[in-house]
Amino acid sequence: MSEWMLAQELTIRLSFFFGVFGLIAFLEAIFPRRKRQHGRMLRWYANLGIVFLNSGIARVAMPVVPMALAALTAEKGWGLFNIVEVPEWIALVASVILLDFFIYFQHVMVHAVPLFWRLHRMHHADLDYDVTTGARFHPIEILLSLWIKLAVIMILGPPVVAVLIFEVVLNAMAMFNHGNLRLPLGLDNFLRLLVVTPDFHRVHHSSIPAEANRNFGFNISLWDRLFGTYKAQPTKGHDDMEIGIDIFREPKDLHLHRMLLQPLYSEGRRYAFNDKHQEESQ
Ligand SMILES: [Zn+2]
Ligand SMILES: [Zn+2]
Repeated sequence: MSEWMLAQELTIRLSFFFGVFGLIAFLEAIFPRRKRQHGRMLRWYANLGIVFLNSGIARVAMPVVPMALAALTAEKGWGLFNIVEVPEWIALVASVILLDFFIYFQHVMVHAVPLFWRLHRMHHADLDYDVTTGARFHPIEILLSLWIKLAVIMILGPPVVAVLIFEVVLNAMAMFNHGNLRLPLGLDNFLRLLVVTPDFHRVHHSSIPAEANRNFGFNISLWDRLFGTYKAQPTKGHDDMEIGIDIFREPKDLHLHRMLLQPLYSEGRRYAFNDKHQEESQ
């Protein structure tokens, strides 16, 4: 089973990516949440360009994919779930939940450390918010998070299938919760008891620092509630809130080559979680 999954890893992930992408893009066109500020063409070529670039870089730069590392930990007896004997299903569920917790924690860290914020702010610099924003991460941040993920897999020793489920679900959820989707409010309120919805995560893309430093979760909504980083709705409402950060607000900043250079600009420190100017500037 795990050999088959390893062999099919790319096919499974790509099928889910294109399937979910198509579905969310279609639903966005029919039930949009906000009016777009910029044309799709400019943003989509750059945001999707980043996806292909990141996939290529990750394949070349990483000696091992996360699922293969999970298989290796099982073979060698490394990691928590290969040392402590628990039923397979408990290892599976606990691994998926713990991997999600580490992603939440990592997201807080890339906001807290100014150097990492330089990389992560490219995700926040998108001037609209839609399915493609979910994949808009700087290649160096992608590599950084892959290394962290590999380290977490070494510690946890999760079942291979747990890593596959986590990767596919994280990818699908990132596209769903960045969707410019108008969900019925009742449905949103119900779903966000457990998972991160588009309205939930959109607060995190507000140009107001105090809102951008809320709602760090990508899958499970529990972490933000548990650690006091939850904000239910943007102060100005979803229609009037400003998406993005205070720098990189020109349409030219949406071009791929400029996005890749954004970490080199020095301004924009005030979004870092612990920046002392933040309170003054709210
Ligand atoms: Zn963020
Ligand atoms: Zn986001």
